[in-house]
Amino acid sequence: MTPLLEVRDLHVSYTAQTGDNSAAIEGVSFALAAGETLGVLGESGSGKSTLASALLRVLPANGRIEKGAVHFKGQDILLAKPGALEKIRGERIALIFQEPSQALHPGIRIEEQIGDVLAAHKGLDRYTRRRKAREILSVVFPVETERIAKSYPHQLSGGQRGRVMIAQAISCEPSLIVADEPTASLDAETQRDILSLFRTLRQQFKLALIWITHNPALLADFADRVMVLYAGRVAELGPTANVLAAPQHPYTEALLRCLPPAAGEGFANRKTKLPVIFGEAPVSIYGAGGCLFEPRCNQRMELCTKREPDMVRLSSTHEASCFKHIG
Ligand code: ATP
Ligand code: MG
Repeated sequence: MTPLLEVRDLHVSYTAQTGDNSAAIEGVSFALAAGETLGVLGESGSGKSTLASALLRVLPANGRIEKGAVHFKGQDILLAKPGALEKIRGERIALIFQEPSQALHPGIRIEEQIGDVLAAHKGLDRYTRRRKAREILSVVFPVETERIAKSYPHQLSGGQRGRVMIAQAISCEPSLIVADEPTASLDAETQRDILSLFRTLRQQFKLALIWITHNPALLADFADRVMVLYAGRVAELGPTANVLAAPQHPYTEALLRCLPPAAGEGFANRKTKLPVIFGEAPVSIYGAGGCLFEPRCNQRMELCTKREPDMVRLSSTHEASCFKHIG
């Protein structure tokens, strides 16, 4: 069966003002089935947002896709002409950005913002747009539809703004939503609300989801599979239960040791400090010769300084890029 989305050997770089090039994504490959939820996990700077923007070719002006292929329903997004690309963006793949306040216009009422998305993609008349906007808002705000529809973004809480972004995303009935840390700035309870809303939506609209986060706790019972990124490379990819319960890359293990306390425990009462992964993520991710996690790895071997590990297939569904799996 053709996957819904297939990314092959993607490489993305940024050019600094000095003219220096730095790689942000180096050889990322994965596939996503229709209706599947893939969690993308990694520390700050690991390339999560770059990956999300590259998939839809919405990188900042100094970002560049060096090579690779991104096939969506068999069509290569990286080669798509502007007209075809516009259709794919929003209508078939919707992107929810990391920062809700940046994505919503401060001076426009919520119902009109949803209407604008519908107008851009579906070209409906004003009356139908309004009716449809209400319909979509009632999915994400079943109780206060009217009040929210008439509000401006600053009159809403962070969680409500998050829901408006979700409403925008589903308004064009996409088959894939790429959500870049949509809950990162929200409190634990609101995070749980948003996750449960997504659970309902993905069933209702048969959505595939790429859910980007730096918090592994959000992926348990939510994502079908997890892809762990380190320095722009895939460190590990496998079914969520396997990756979280029995991680096969030392970086995944380290990330899981840094889990925040379970909701309700509260940071204020914690006696012990949260562990952090020793060392710092590499500044330049161009291959220095060895595995980029080697300086921080508690299981390093001599080989790890010599060359970069390839992906090792551990089962038909689980792979990790670590030499410890090569006998
Ligand atoms: P976070 O968890 O903080 O959102 P991330 O995993 O989304 O991080 P990216 O924002 O994709 O990481 O960044 C990947 C790398 O690319 C980092 O080294 C970052 O400094 C660099 N980078 C990102 N955006 C730009 C840019 N516009 N210009 C230059 N470098 C950039
Ligand atoms: Mg990011």
